[in-house]
Amino acid sequence: MSAAASPFRIVHTVCSHDCPDSCAVLVTVNEQGRAIKVEGDPAQPVTQGFLCGKVAKYLDLVYASDRILYPLRRKPGAAKQPLPRGREHESFERVSWDEALTAIAARLQEIADQHGPESILPYSYAGTIGQLGYGSMDRRFFHRLGASRLDRTICSEAGGQAWNTVYGKKLGTPPEDFRLAKLILAWGANIHGNNVHLWPMIEQARRNGARLIVIDPYRTRTAALADWHIAIRPGTDAALALGMMHVILNEGLEDRAYIDAMTHGFPQLAERAREYTPERVAAWTGMTAAEVERLAREYATTHPAALRLNYGVQRAEWGGATTRAIAMLPALTGAWKYRGGGAVLSTSGAFAWNEHQLRRPDLQLASPLGREARLVNMSTLGQALTELGQDRDQGSEIRDQNADGRGPQEAVFASWGADGPPVHALFVYNSNPGAVAPNQNAVRRGLARPDLFTVVHELFFTDTTDYADYILPATTFLEHTDIQGAYGHYFVQLSQQAIEPPGEARSNVWLFSQLAQRMDFPEPCFRDTPEEMIRQALGVQPDIDPAAAPYAHSTNPGMEHITYAALAEHGHIPLSFHAEPDAHPFLPYTAGPLPTPSGKVEFYSETLASAGLDPLPGFTPPTESRWGADAKRYPLEFLARKADNYMNSTFANLDGHRKMESRTNQRLEIHPADAKARNLADGDPVRIFNDRGSLQLAALLNPSLPPGVVAARLDWAKLHPDGGNVNALTSERLTDIGAGATFYSTLVEVARVAEPE
Ligand code: SF4
Repeated sequence: MSAAASPFRIVHTVCSHDCPDSCAVLVTVNEQGRAIKVEGDPAQPVTQGFLCGKVAKYLDLVYASDRILYPLRRKPGAAKQPLPRGREHESFERVSWDEALTAIAARLQEIADQHGPESILPYSYAGTIGQLGYGSMDRRFFHRLGASRLDRTICSEAGGQAWNTVYGKKLGTPPEDFRLAKLILAWGANIHGNNVHLWPMIEQARRNGARLIVIDPYRTRTAALADWHIAIRPGTDAALALGMMHVILNEGLEDRAYIDAMTHGFPQLAERAREYTPERVAAWTGMTAAEVERLAREYATTHPAALRLNYGVQRAEWGGATTRAIAMLPALTGAWKYRGGGAVLSTSGAFAWNEHQLRRPDLQLASPLGREARLVNMSTLGQALTELGQDRDQGSEIRDQNADGRGPQEAVFASWGADGPPVHALFVYNSNPGAVAPNQNAVRRGLARPDLFTVVHELFFTDTTDYADYILPATTFLEHTDIQGAYGHYFVQLSQQAIEPPGEARSNVWLFSQLAQRMDFPEPCFRDTPEEMIRQALGVQPDIDPAAAPYAHSTNPGMEHITYAALAEHGHIPLSFHAEPDAHPFLPYTAGPLPTPSGKVEFYSETLASAGLDPLPGFTPPTESRWGADAKRYPLEFLARKADNYMNSTFANLDGHRKMESRTNQRLEIHPADAKARNLADGDPVRIFNDRGSLQLAALLNPSLPPGVVAARLDWAKLHPDGGNVNALTSERLTDIGAGATFYSTLVEVARVAEPE
C-alpha cells in the first residue's frame, strides 16, 4: 500500500519524561484516532530509531484502564489518608470541568482574600519537560495570583549551580562525540538505565578500543558492563576527585597550556589538592591508594577522555562541592580540547528559550501582592506544610480588628513576618510529592491537614491524590502539543498532538488558561494558544502575524535558523553550533570569555567566597555518614535508589514495568558482612529505620555493595504492604549549594522483624 493510501498517520512527538535523551517519538495513529505504535525516530541522530524499555511500552500507560479520565471531587466526610490501591475512587465523585474549575477558582480566591495569596503554593517539577507543559501558562497564572513561588530544587539544583560556578553555563560534550573517546568515565551515571541513547556511542567507542570506567557505590547495569567498576562509599566523590588532582599535579600530568589560557585560580587549587594524598582518599572512599593513582593516571594520559557526570552525586549534603571538584577534572587535563573529550552534566544551558515571555514573572506586579512573591523550597515540603508561618496565622484576627482604615487585604498581608503566611492551598501538577519528596512522614502530616485545600492534576490515583480535594485528569505527551530542548543533546524538537485526550483529560496549558479566565484575569496572555506560546518560546517577533509569516525566524541565540514551519516539517533541528558537527565540531569551554566573573573556568570562585562558602572544592563527610555523630545509632549508609524502568514514580503502577523491576521489588540490598552481623539471611523480613520513619522489606544479600551501605529503590508508598517508601527515611537537610534535596545522605539501622508468635 502506498503511503498516500495508508489509513494510518505517523505523528512526530517528543518524549517529555525527565530524561536527558528527549527522544523523537513517532506515533502511528489508526483511522479511529487510536495510537497503535510508538517508535524512536530513526532520523534523529541521538534517538537513532529506538526507545528505552519504559517508553517502548508507552501505550500501556496511555490506555491504562485505571487512568483518571474525569474531574473528581472528594466526597463529603471522606478522610484524607492513604487509600488502598484500586479503591481510591470510593472517596471521590465525578464532577464536570465547569463545576470543578468554578469551585477551585472560588476557593483559591477565598484563601487569597483571607490569608494572602502567598498562602497558595504551586508544586510541580519535571513530570513533563516540554517548555509549555513544564512552565508556561501555569507560571503566568500563579504569578498573576500572587501565589508563593516554588524553588524547584529537588533534582538538579545543587549540581547545576555548582557547574555554573566553574563554567558559567551548562554545556558539555555532544553525545554523538562520545564514540570518539578512548576513555569514558561514568561518574554517578547509570547510562544504561537512564541515558540509554548514549550507550550506542559508548559501544562504538569501545569497539575502537576505549575503556569504560564507572564510579558508583551501586553496581548498576552500567557498572556491571564496565571495564572497571569502582564502588566508592556514598558522598566521598569529592575526596576522590581531589585525590585524582593530587596525583595529576604531583606527576606533572596537567595541561599547562589550557590552564594558562582558560582558567582562574590554579595556584589555589593546586595547594588545596596537595592535602588529598592517595592514602587519605583511600581511607575515605574505600579504594586502595594504588587504585586512586591508577585512575588518575589513566584519566589524565588518555585522550580523548569523556566524563559523563550525572546528578546522583549532587543529591548529597556536599553535592555542590562534589560537582565542582569533578567538573574541574577536564579543565585540569585539557580534555575539552579534544573532540570526543570533555565532560557533560547537562546540555540545557545551550537552549536560550524566551522564558520571560513564556512565564511572565512581571505579572506578579499586577497581583494583589504588587511585588515578587516569597520562595518556598520544594525539597522541604514537609516543613512548608507543617511549620511555615504556623505561629503567625492571625489573619482573621487582624481582619476583625481592621479599624485603622487600611483595606482588608493590606491588613492581612501586614500581619505576616518574614516567612509569610502558612500554606492553605497546594496545587500539584507534574509531580507526586506524596511519593517522591523527602521526609515522607512530615509531607503526609502536612497533606492530611483538614484545612489544607489540595488540587492535583494527574494521570492516575497516586500517593498524592489520596489527599486531594479535587483531582483533575491530565494529558500524556501524545495528547498535547509542545516544544522541547534537552539536557542530553543539542536538538530543538516539536511535539505534535497525536491523539485526542481520552475522556476529559486536559493539558496544563488548557487548565491554567481556564482557571485564569474564571478568576477574571484581564491580560490577553491567558488566552494564548499552544502554537502562539511555542512561537514565544522561540522568540519569534511578536508583531509578526504567524499566519502571514510561517517562516518567521527565532531571535534566540543558537536558534536563529529555526522557524515554526521548519520544525513542523522536520520535527527536530540542531542548534546552530551543532549543525555541521564534522566540519565544525563543538568544543565547549575552549574559547573565552566564558560567562563567569573572571571570564575563565573558575577553579577558585570569588562569588562563593563572598557568600561565605568555600571558594575551592573540598571534601567534608556528610552529617549522615559513617563519620557522623549519629553513626553509632544508625551505622548504615542508605541509598534510596531510583528504578531503571520507572521515571521516579511514573510507570511504577504498571504491571509490565513492575515485572522488569521484580528483582529488587520490596527488597533491601545489604552486604553479606552487614547481614551476618545482624544475623540475617537472604529473604528474611527486615525493618529499616531511623528517627524519621521505618519501612519493612525483605533482605537481599548483595556482595557488590560497599560494606556499611544498604540500598532500596523508590516505589509508590501505596504499593508497599506497610504503606511507606524509601522517603520515609530520607531527610529535609539541604545541599551546600543550591538548597537541593540530600536523598543520598541518609543513615539507618536494619533489624530482623520478629516472627509472629
Ligand atoms: S525516557 Fe528517555 S530514553 Fe526513554 S523514550 Fe523518553 S527520552 Fe527516550
